[in-house]
Amino acid sequence: MVSEYQDQAVRLDYSARRRRLREKVFASSSRIRQTVDTVLVLGAPNLEYLTGFTGSFAWLVMRPESEHLLTSGVYATQIAEEVPDIPCERIPVGVEPTEPLCQLLQALGTRVLGVDMSQSYAFIRGLQRRLRKAGIQVRPTRIPIELLRIVKDAYEVARIRDAVAIADATFEHIQRLFQPEVVEWDIAMEIDFYLRRQGAYPAFETIVASGTRSALPHARPTERRLQRGDFVTVDFGARLQGYCSDITRTVVVGKASAEQKRVYYAVLEALERSIEAIRPGRRGKQIDAVARKVLQKHGLSDYFGHSLGHSLGLAVHDGRGFSPREKGALQVGMVLTVEPGVYIPGFGGVRIEQDVLVTETGCEVLSRSPIGLIETGG
Ligand code: ZN
Ligand code: ZN
Repeated sequence: MVSEYQDQAVRLDYSARRRRLREKVFASSSRIRQTVDTVLVLGAPNLEYLTGFTGSFAWLVMRPESEHLLTSGVYATQIAEEVPDIPCERIPVGVEPTEPLCQLLQALGTRVLGVDMSQSYAFIRGLQRRLRKAGIQVRPTRIPIELLRIVKDAYEVARIRDAVAIADATFEHIQRLFQPEVVEWDIAMEIDFYLRRQGAYPAFETIVASGTRSALPHARPTERRLQRGDFVTVDFGARLQGYCSDITRTVVVGKASAEQKRVYYAVLEALERSIEAIRPGRRGKQIDAVARKVLQKHGLSDYFGHSLGHSLGLAVHDGRGFSPREKGALQVGMVLTVEPGVYIPGFGGVRIEQDVLVTETGCEVLSRSPIGLIETGG
């Protein structure tokens, strides 16, 4: 049965994903297996990926031969419907989740529980203190869910394509707003409204930054009114059926100055060269270096103060990406953003962001929104 909480045409085989994770964690050759006998999986995107549960809170306890879920009363009915194949304990109201977890682990005979290192120190310390009393050790562990999640299957790619298509339609919808006197905040509201109207959610807080504020890569929209000659950067994405898109475009209100054109075309060249360089086997840092080199050629690399891109999926930052330190190799089926930017204090900034799917021969650009320089408002 397809859950009413999911708008999916097919029921995915989540158990196959969990089987793959269990094989990685508990195979006799696995290093994790040598140190822990049970792992605790946390985090909404991980739970959704492994079980199909779309709520915001559940814990998954995995052992070589069994799986158990814990959730609050808020999600008890939903989880029973969405995840019929894993037994679930309901955490009573007012009870610390670690208490039923402790009882469950004792019943299962757990001695050492692996918790992913990405969890906060405070959380891991708290769990260690609570479980120590029951004779259970908690060990920070690298649980390789991220490695599974960064390579998308056909279903996931189709969902991301849908989310990108909505972002594209949204960008087209807001074209008329790139006019003098339009307020940044109103553009952001229109983006969010349009995304919601099409059944999606904003994948993250929408960025609209105009004039010299466009030199702030993560600017929040303000009450500032657009003026002729402004750069306007919009960065937004749709979350649809769990999956995210993330695109950025920078336009000029009115006619671009010679310096604006110079900066824009340098960023565009960095984007295009990096996209051309993507192929399976290349390392993330190699692609990042391509963009940096192009910007260096234009004397602008000092103004590119962030990584070139990030993996995209159930989360906006889904795992590895393109950064100077990323040694991981690209694989067919990864979906990543490519987003070079130049931010010049007192002048303004340009960022252009594409979402790409790594293919056998290179990559496919998913967004259809134009990337050439747009000058609006006459
Ligand atoms: Zn973005
Ligand atoms: Zn991004």
